[in-house]
Amino acid sequence: MEAEKLATQSVHSGYHIEDTYGAVSMPIVLSTTFERGDDGQFLEGRDIYARSSNPNRRALEHKLAAIEHGTEAIAFASGQAATMSIMHSLQSGDHVIIPDDIYYGTRVMLQTLYHRWGLELDSVDMTDLDVLESRIKSNTKLIWIETPSNPALKVTDIEAVVAIAKKRQILVVCDNTWATPYFTLPLNLGVDAVMHSTTKYFGGHSDITGGCIIVKDHKELAQKVRDFQVLGGAVPSSFDCWLLYRSLSTFPMRMKAHGENAHILAEYLHHHPQIEKVNYPGLKSNSYHEVASKQMLNGYGGMMSILVKGGAKETLQVASHLKLITHATSLGGVESLVDHRQSAEGAASLSPANLLRVSVGIEDVHDLIKDFEQALATL
Ligand code: PLP
Repeated sequence: MEAEKLATQSVHSGYHIEDTYGAVSMPIVLSTTFERGDDGQFLEGRDIYARSSNPNRRALEHKLAAIEHGTEAIAFASGQAATMSIMHSLQSGDHVIIPDDIYYGTRVMLQTLYHRWGLELDSVDMTDLDVLESRIKSNTKLIWIETPSNPALKVTDIEAVVAIAKKRQILVVCDNTWATPYFTLPLNLGVDAVMHSTTKYFGGHSDITGGCIIVKDHKELAQKVRDFQVLGGAVPSSFDCWLLYRSLSTFPMRMKAHGENAHILAEYLHHHPQIEKVNYPGLKSNSYHEVASKQMLNGYGGMMSILVKGGAKETLQVASHLKLITHATSLGGVESLVDHRQSAEGAASLSPANLLRVSVGIEDVHDLIKDFEQALATL
């Protein structure tokens, strides 16, 4: 049978009504342990112990694999734990290349935890393929993509990076947290694995912390990640799996609204006299518009960043005068947020002083425009 469409997968994958209760919404199974057979053996199809597997996590992993066009998903207690599962699949002395614009926490993790562990690290402008190629070494084992990047929204040509990596058997993993499978399907473009902070768009309501890795026909990598999940134990609770499974039912509808609102708001801010620049790949004038149009589906995502005319003072003034939109970190929830990344990241931040990251929610876009209008008018 042809694969079901995204909206159908988002509602149905992973759970089938069972005879015991006939429950239409999947029951939450909190038990940490499961009964064995009379002979002491574990029963076929039954779980054994909740860290190894449990019904809610299994249903969630099925749904995550289906919507990302993968063959297996492995769920974690946070996006960072999911990233660690990939780094742990490497060995001391291996070389990793990351983009120069990347989620701050990924960079700091590599510079601290994995520096101590002996991973070599290079960061490059991954939108310049010649530079990327020139930085590959004989011990390069992983190229990590994040597109659009956090917070500058640089768009990396995934197929081009995969082509460079595959010639040398280098693993390619894509953090697809921002684009999500609604806007980009990296596994279809050849990457070995996709990583998500499910805390963001998949959770969608700013009330779950989680992460996942999704692979397509890559049993060896899937096994290493699964080992890290089960033996390392950074697993999501049954309740978090259930919440996330439920949130995913409305995922495509939410993403459509995020993308449409972001595009309209980006056009408005692009023409505002107090705004120096809008980083949004949907704008025709954006440096990454062409590559984004080639690889992104259904629009250009719900995230953008803006550079306010002035410095940190003026930028924080705008953030603090927004009334509907909250100044808080994180992204991907139904409510709009702005984040002054430099003050959130502290001394190690590479973010410009006048940058505000905007996670565009699903409110009425005219209300979002009005809110920016009055906050920018205070300058
Ligand atoms: N990747 C990206 C792009 C993120 O924005 C974040 C968090 O902000 C993470 C990874 C880390 O995820 P978590 O906070 O769920 O550990």
